Amino acid sequence: MLDAILQMDCLALAEAIRTRQVSSLEATSACLEAIDKYNQKIGAFLTVFQQQALDQARDVDRRIQAGDKVGPLAGVPIAVKDNICTTFGPTTCGSKILANFRSPCNATVVERLMRADAIIIGKTNMDEFAMGSTTENSAFGPTHNPWDLGRVAGGSSGGSAAAVAARMCFGALGSDTGGSIRQPAAFCGVVGLKPTYGRVSRFGLVAYGSSLDQIGPLARSVRDCALLLNVIGGHDPKDSTSVPPEIVPDEDLLARLDQPIDGLRIGLVKGATEGADLPIRQAIGRAVDTYRAMGAEVVELEIPALDYSVATYYIIATAEASSNLARYDGVHYGYRSPAARDCMEVYTRSRAEGLGKEVKRRIMLGTYALSSGYYDAYYLKALKVRNLIRQQIFAALGQCDSILMPVAPTTAFSLGQMAADPLKMYLADVYTIPANLAGIPAISIPVGLDGAGLPVGVQLLGPAFSEGRLLRIARILEKGAHWTCQVPAGLTV
Ligand code: GLN
Repeated sequence: MLDAILQMDCLALAEAIRTRQVSSLEATSACLEAIDKYNQKIGAFLTVFQQQALDQARDVDRRIQAGDKVGPLAGVPIAVKDNICTTFGPTTCGSKILANFRSPCNATVVERLMRADAIIIGKTNMDEFAMGSTTENSAFGPTHNPWDLGRVAGGSSGGSAAAVAARMCFGALGSDTGGSIRQPAAFCGVVGLKPTYGRVSRFGLVAYGSSLDQIGPLARSVRDCALLLNVIGGHDPKDSTSVPPEIVPDEDLLARLDQPIDGLRIGLVKGATEGADLPIRQAIGRAVDTYRAMGAEVVELEIPALDYSVATYYIIATAEASSNLARYDGVHYGYRSPAARDCMEVYTRSRAEGLGKEVKRRIMLGTYALSSGYYDAYYLKALKVRNLIRQQIFAALGQCDSILMPVAPTTAFSLGQMAADPLKMYLADVYTIPANLAGIPAISIPVGLDGAGLPVGVQLLGPAFSEGRLLRIARILEKGAHWTCQVPAGLTV
């Protein structure tokens, strides 16, 4: 029975709980058992709300038994990345500087999960302040890939992806500034969706690159991503960049998920997959076959400005980060160096001791790009190139419904393999960054395993606020790939 429960996706579990075939207590206990068994080895969770989760589960079961109306995620255990604020437990952002930080408020997405009666089971590991692609930059140790413990889970939402893959929860929230939902989803064999910028409130998300950051779901099926986005999406007066209801279609993303799409056009960017490893290129080839077989037209696109996306991103993201992270000064938030002898040293020592190497590198890069004399040459130019990239992507999306491309050039690599070469690590973000620069939605779908038994994902991008259609297009691929998110080989649940 336990096995059967842990094979379900959120939607199936929610239905089973509502109809009292399964209790939330059973499902929550099963996740807590998996956490007990594996978290030491995998490092997916930084905090687990064991008692609170069990209490909430019992409460949901009681309400269902009493015939009360419950929310769409009633009794379903969900994990939340540790840069999303909760009043319960710490919100560390994977950083020593926030190790003991307690948020005075819940993020809007957390409020919405709770309103939907989800069980928030814990906070997941991440690269410090979401800066990284492997979760190795966490101050609390790396996350290991459940498919091969010697490999990275991806990042920065590596803990969320590994937790979903290893059945420690049924779904999770991550944040995506340059690929941090989609790339770990691909490395761990789960589905990950970065929504349109402004579709999901960022209130209570600790800022990294504010013009790029977006919260989204990681789950075991496309329909779960639809369900989770239904719950967390929508206008929030607390976030001035959250888009008002007149612009975001007020739609039930689950309602039309299985409806066929007539005249579907899939775009392939000329030359884009050349830098990817063979299993990734083959997966793209198979995805093209799936769409062709259902009558879709495949169009070739040219987006020359994409060549500049990594450079553009690493100027804009670091510039915004250098400004956002100025608040960690030993006075306003978190860690204060006990060795500081005067006011200046409170700032310098607290930051020197509290922040990790990669975060410092980014603050320095960003400060440099924003400094007088370099502002025009770097930051301003990057803004102009970003605009060009956006325009070219929008034009390309005028010729097709969705652009198909890899998520990452490789599958999960070994822990430590890339750590010494930050530039190489940055360059591997080439496929995920464009969606953030353009503010458009993009989804990573697992389509099978490579020769080494590691998950392979592919990515679909769509126009702003086209999530309804994008999820339907992703659903076609999910069905065609005949690969549902499996329990990683070697893990028994
Ligand atoms: N790997 C990218 C970076 O380090 C993406 C991070 C993210 O999306 N949060 O900036």
